[in-house]
Amino acid sequence: MAQLQNEFSWSISRARLFEECLRKYYYYYYASWNGWEETGPEHARLCYRLKQIVDLRAWAGDISHRVIKAAITSYRMGRPLSLEAMQSMGRNLLNREWKESAESLWVRHPKKYVNLFEHYYNRTVSPEDRAATRQRVFDALQAFVDMGYAEELRSVSTEDWLSVEELDQFYIGDVKAWAVIDCAFRRGAEIAIYDWKTGRANGDEGASDQLVCYALFAAHKWSAPLQSIRVSAVYLVERSAAVHTVAAEQAIEFRERVFKDVAKMAKRLADPQRNKGREEDFPRTTNRALCARCGFFEVCFGDRSLVPPKE
Ligand code: SF4
Repeated sequence: MAQLQNEFSWSISRARLFEECLRKYYYYYYASWNGWEETGPEHARLCYRLKQIVDLRAWAGDISHRVIKAAITSYRMGRPLSLEAMQSMGRNLLNREWKESAESLWVRHPKKYVNLFEHYYNRTVSPEDRAATRQRVFDALQAFVDMGYAEELRSVSTEDWLSVEELDQFYIGDVKAWAVIDCAFRRGAEIAIYDWKTGRANGDEGASDQLVCYALFAAHKWSAPLQSIRVSAVYLVERSAAVHTVAAEQAIEFRERVFKDVAKMAKRLADPQRNKGREEDFPRTTNRALCARCGFFEVCFGDRSLVPPKE
């Protein structure tokens, strides 16, 4: 079988990581390549394992997303799913995956089993921390129902559904890009896109780029004019939503930013044609607060036990 090639592509998360820490970006997109192979190089396998690490907060957000996706899938099959059933699903996932992580099942398969930052880096997790994580999931699911999304999405007819968390690619100029839309459907003459968020709106820098990206993707994928696309960032824990329509000028500015990003990313590479980088060309961040919650700490500083306390 032909070997997979690490081809360059752009995504919102890639652009964010590039801004956050160049070294982390290198580990995530280059050093971990082929690390899924059992016979792959040790360093790549370590980076691939560390790439899968999530902290409690991100894990709660991921579980909320997965339960909402399951609810929508159920609605599409004509089966309502009660809030109690959703919360029970959330609780089961929390319990099962906590155990998986505590027992280090990720050793068998790093992508299949959850690896929590707090376990891997030996942080103390109090019963209160665990209760807060569960409450975060429950609150997000409760808000999904209370804010009227469950009711609205139950009534979307089969032919109006466009996408539920499908990873898809498109082109921005000649740049291959990826997008995952939490959910998209036709609502009369409009296309409605919902992006579920479990963090806070005021800490969500880059949210507008994400929404423009989704609108461009939708316009391309479903051949729709930009003005017919409504993108909503739904902050479940805060119970607020910001609805956006993307203007043509915003789309132009966004494309320009993507081209600039791509040029900066390519400049870092030792061999841009073959998309090959070297660790020494990707310096560490000087913001140690980021290191205190970075899954790559072990490979970056050579010792798991040195990870600084979270601020
Ligand atoms: S530990 Fe710090 S410097 Fe190293 S990759 Fe993570 S954030 Fe970057």
